[in-house]
Amino acid sequence: MRVAERVEEIVERGLCTGCGACESLLGKDVLGMELSPEGFMRPRRRRPLKISEQQAVMQVCAGRSQPGPAPSEAAPHRIFGTMLHLARGHATDRQIRFKSATGGMLTALAVYLLESGEVDAVLQVGVSTSNPLENEVRFNTTRAGIVACAGSRYGPTAPLKDVHAALDGGRRFAFVGKPCDVATLRNLARVDPRVDRQIPYMLAMFCGGNPSIAATYNIVRRFGEDHREVDEFRYRGHGWPGPTYLRTRQGREHRQTYDETWFSNLTYELMFRCKICADGVGEHADVVAGDCWVMDNGKPSHREAGDGWNMHIARTERGRQLIEDAVVAGYIHEEPFSVAELEAMHDDHGTKKRSVLWRLAGLALTGQPFPDHGALRVVQAGLAAGWRERWEAFRGTLARSLKRRNRESPVTSGTFAPDATTIS
Ligand SMILES: Cc1cc2nc3c(=O)[nH]c(=O)nc-3n(C[C@H](O)[C@H](O)[C@H](O)COP(=O)(O)OP(=O)(O)OC[C@H]3O[C@@H](n4cnc5c(N)ncnc54)[C@H](O)[C@@H]3O)c2cc1C
Repeated sequence: MRVAERVEEIVERGLCTGCGACESLLGKDVLGMELSPEGFMRPRRRRPLKISEQQAVMQVCAGRSQPGPAPSEAAPHRIFGTMLHLARGHATDRQIRFKSATGGMLTALAVYLLESGEVDAVLQVGVSTSNPLENEVRFNTTRAGIVACAGSRYGPTAPLKDVHAALDGGRRFAFVGKPCDVATLRNLARVDPRVDRQIPYMLAMFCGGNPSIAATYNIVRRFGEDHREVDEFRYRGHGWPGPTYLRTRQGREHRQTYDETWFSNLTYELMFRCKICADGVGEHADVVAGDCWVMDNGKPSHREAGDGWNMHIARTERGRQLIEDAVVAGYIHEEPFSVAELEAMHDDHGTKKRSVLWRLAGLALTGQPFPDHGALRVVQAGLAAGWRERWEAFRGTLARSLKRRNRESPVTSGTFAPDATTIS
């Protein structure tokens, strides 16, 4: 097994998660986050890095190491990790519940943290103010700002690109992001004690993978529109799951279902790093939330179901207390939800986790580096995979690696060109 030791290798071997922590550490004059030619958020190198700079980045980069959460007294579930509390629920505020990706759990918890004075701000991502198809980082100090960030952005974000500036500001803030973003923050906490002092709450969503921005531009083309004319775009929300929605400056509207978006567009543009991710379920977070899908014949259905319901898990004692306090304060409502229901509803995460060991074997055989997954039970999960599952994961990654399809453009190359994308 070999881990990458340089930023260039992390990016070019498809291991970068796109979080932006490297820009935050070294400054954007050294490594600036931009959309790469493949449409992922990647550091673009302005000059060769010194050894000390490489080491500083490698200490925190989740492309190198995603070690798993701190040990807990509760034995972790093989797939879903440590669960100090598991329930289903939603935001009690109707506007939050409606606008949000699912039931507004993450938004409601963030609002509660701000309004109860637990934090001064929330670091998260929202829609870019200059381009409704892209995203930007927000440091929200108001309820309105947090609510404006509700919803899932299935595309590149770099939520940690300004985290050092936020820490330098001295304020306490919560963080909301993907599991890999939170894993990076936990890595940072090991070398910067301010993280534990100033970021007392880290919230994440379940994540099946994050696609290239090319997927978004392809949806616009599929609707027959020019991306320059888009005035509003969302992937879901405004109902549950809510359609993917586009409105042009001229007022033309288009919609497609959640399944059309995922299975006709996004699935084909996921980054390689997501295919070897051993933590789609937010094990490093204090609280993680996902969809609590309506089940049809034992399988999750993604059909429109009105008011959204989340399932949520507290991973830490602090997260468990946060949920309890937010229920008492009336920000969220919750009901019982069992481990058996979770296993049936989110079996896609079981499949994904069981495949990682075999995908890594495909990389190892071809001499490719991959992240150190530490305590994320990759071997334990992998040994529970059936022979067919093992073979397909191994063979697929081996072929991908031999064809160099895990590779990405060098850190010195140009940026994404929307008009050059092809329809997937
Ligand atoms: C890339 C991606 C993959 C996902 N895969 C799954 C899955 O496999 N299974 C599942 O059940 N749910 C998945 N979801 C999560 C789901 O869409 C909901 O976010 C989750 O159910 C929480 O719902 P909510 O109503 O509480 O969120 P909201 O209250 O709407 O809050 C969402 C929060 O997520 C933040 N956010 C949105 N997009 C991003 C992003 N790209 N990067 C960082 N932060 C972001 C927003 O800033 C906001 O704070 C995924 C979401 C994303 C972005």
